Amino acid sequence: MHKVIIIGSGCAGLTAAIYAARADLLPVVLDGYEPGGQLALTTLVENFPGFPDGILGPNFIELARTQAQRFGTEFRSGAVTSVDLSRRPFQIVAGKENYECEALIIAAGASARMLGIESEKHLLGHGVSTCATCDGYFFRHREIVVVGGGDTAMEEATFLTKFAKRVTLVHRRNDFRATKIMLDRARANEKIVFKTPYVVEEVHNVEKSSVESVTLRNVETNDIATLDAEGVFVAIGHDPNTKIFRGQLELDDAGYIVTHDGPKTTVEGVFAAGDVQDHHYRQAITAAGSGCMAAIDAEKFLAEHRI
Ligand code: NDP
Repeated sequence: MHKVIIIGSGCAGLTAAIYAARADLLPVVLDGYEPGGQLALTTLVENFPGFPDGILGPNFIELARTQAQRFGTEFRSGAVTSVDLSRRPFQIVAGKENYECEALIIAAGASARMLGIESEKHLLGHGVSTCATCDGYFFRHREIVVVGGGDTAMEEATFLTKFAKRVTLVHRRNDFRATKIMLDRARANEKIVFKTPYVVEEVHNVEKSSVESVTLRNVETNDIATLDAEGVFVAIGHDPNTKIFRGQLELDDAGYIVTHDGPKTTVEGVFAAGDVQDHHYRQAITAAGSGCMAAIDAEKFLAEHRI
């Protein structure tokens, strides 16, 4: 039986762990499928206050982990396969292990959808990115490709024109899912070129660990085109890691956990922090902030119940 269990070890989960551990709650962090979360998949983080020269995402995560451990956080590997939140103590199954806790903090994150081509995996963090706010600055005066036809793609393409020489927006259909206002804004931007209906077949050059060009295929004619680019931003949506909570917590239409009064969910004693409940900001600093809030509210909840 644990006082607090934290599901997820990204920026939100680790911040919650630091706060919960310093409140003597002896938190247990269940690592999940992607230990370290999105930051573990990125390179230089330049927008987190306190690191004037930036810090590599994996190093940042390692430091936060060490910090959480220093105050007594216990880390367990293994992804959570099911939970029972219908009564307290809450039941959690992770592989062969069963856990019980009085308060639960869900910081399971959201995973960026990827194109599913081999080269994109190798070049993620080396020219391929899923976050324009995080990485746009590295592409000043460069040619950039943004993939996607939703609001995120329009927003990222528009944002990236602040840095890029040119942004080519590649979308697999001639119609767009994006709202009219976002699409119109992108269309009106002279630095954005639309290329439809195309899909990205390959990103080059894996051997050099940097992006040099992309191969595109027209889905109607099968024509192949090559485009020189030094950055590829995949903006085809995110999927919150909330499958196991379906039916137990209120989720919104896109599957994100609905929170109220900060990190509180529809089940008393269950709190949510980071990208699992936020599809708007998705930043390390906002995830850390909400992790802190979840730990403070979990502590208050336990105190109120004299646990
Ligand atoms: P969406 O699901 O709305 O759009 C995803 C886009 O990516 C679609 O155009 C889709 O194409 C394309 N896509 C999906 N999979 C692939 C693939 N494998 N290969 C190529 N293309 C693919 O996600 P968003 O992240 O854009 O938006 C999510 C939500 O957040 C929306 O509700 C949006 O309105 C909201 N949002 C609002 C913003 C704002 O108001 N400022 C900013 C950003 C997001 P297809 O259309 O063919 O399916």
